Amino acid sequence: MVIRETLQTPVTYECDVLVCGGGIAGVSAALAAARQGKSVMLLEKQHILGGLGTAGLITYYLPLCDGYGKQVSFGIAEELLRLSIQMGAEARYPANWLDSDDPAGRTEHDARYETRYNPYIFAVLMEQLLKQESVRILYGTYAVGVSTKGDKIHTVMIENKTGRQAIAVKSVVDATGDCDIAVFAGAPTALFQQGNLLASWYYALDKNGYDLHSLGYADMPENRKTDADRERTKHFERFSGVDGEEISEMMQKAHRLMLDDWLKKREKDATVIPTTISSIPQLRMTRKLVGEYCQDDTEMHQEYADSVGMVSDWRERGPVYEVPFGTMVTKTVKNLVVAGRCTSVTDSMWDIMRVIPCCAVTGEAAGVAAAMTDDMIALDVTALQAKLVKNGVVLHERDL
Ligand SMILES: Cc1cc2nc3c(=O)[nH]c(=O)nc-3n(C[C@H](O)[C@H](O)[C@H](O)COP(=O)(O)OP(=O)(O)OC[C@H]3O[C@@H](n4cnc5c(N)ncnc54)[C@H](O)[C@@H]3O)c2cc1C
Repeated sequence: MVIRETLQTPVTYECDVLVCGGGIAGVSAALAAARQGKSVMLLEKQHILGGLGTAGLITYYLPLCDGYGKQVSFGIAEELLRLSIQMGAEARYPANWLDSDDPAGRTEHDARYETRYNPYIFAVLMEQLLKQESVRILYGTYAVGVSTKGDKIHTVMIENKTGRQAIAVKSVVDATGDCDIAVFAGAPTALFQQGNLLASWYYALDKNGYDLHSLGYADMPENRKTDADRERTKHFERFSGVDGEEISEMMQKAHRLMLDDWLKKREKDATVIPTTISSIPQLRMTRKLVGEYCQDDTEMHQEYADSVGMVSDWRERGPVYEVPFGTMVTKTVKNLVVAGRCTSVTDSMWDIMRVIPCCAVTGEAAGVAAAMTDDMIALDVTALQAKLVKNGVVLHERDL
């Protein structure tokens, strides 16, 4: 059965740049766009900034460096790492990078420029930073659709406590993690072929203090699996992350997994007690853009004329990737730019690009681009690169 609705949706807001999603990518994009002097709104369906990196309790800020002592990610990616531990690190304080100029200490295996932060302090500090830059944040607000004129988004439909409204936009950053806006606007997208395994990271307190329990099996892309990995996971349930009912089921299973884990731990230590569980689904890879360029993990150390920054491979020392702007845009929707864990990459590259520093790198580039134009395909990428370089971003590996 289908119900035909006739909607009269009031256009309540307008802005130059609308950032949909307030995870690390969305925060970076909003910050970058606001610093270009544009009016910026950020929508977030939760009531806290940071997405998986805060509400999702994923509090490991993975490396900004290549593992051999060279920093590769700069700009807002570094600014947010420093902000995350401005009031103290939860673990892995990167002293070799922040308190010492001696490069010798930065080459050890365990001396990467990474850290662990407190999710709530980081979320509130990000909120203060965005407010300082006059970003208008709308919490509890879901982007639920768009209207288009030609090949551009004209308004984004939202729903929150007030009801259904619309925002008139010049350009849009899709930082939803799932390419929601791209789908609403009819841009090509693709799903993660493997699907996600169940994760249930939670915080608990025991006699030794407060700590993160990284519960669940960390899967890897097909090309890195051994036969033993395939055998071990072949009966595991997998989740696409783009179906409302499936996500609800997954959350209930994640809650049960946490409870069972805690009950088991309590048998050994009566003082252990859970303090926080994730309020959003812990999904690594769901839906991505099929953009103008699709980057693969074999393209390490390759130079791109449209590079907007660099990232390393969190899983091993050595590989460095320049990030092509073409992975963030599509000619089907010209005023849309995608950032974070849903850019246009192969499934094997996705495992690299989905992590926090990479989301900040694409977020910053998306924010500057969205502030510059409502036509990403016609954008003068050299001018975008000049602005990023002015912000401290290093574009090419040869410049390190
Ligand atoms: C189990 C697990 C372990 C991980 N481990 C690490 C790790 O150790 N280190 C690391 O760096 N990374 C890790 N990651 C990956 C990393 O945490 C995320 O990929 C990254 O934080 C994603 O940032 P993002 O901003 O792209 O997306 P998200 O954090 O998903 O943010 C998207 C935001 O958009 C909001 N949103 C979504 N749809 C809408 C909509 N329609 N309207 C309004 N708002 C919307 C969401 O509420 C969310 O806040 C892990 C991920 C998982 C699941």
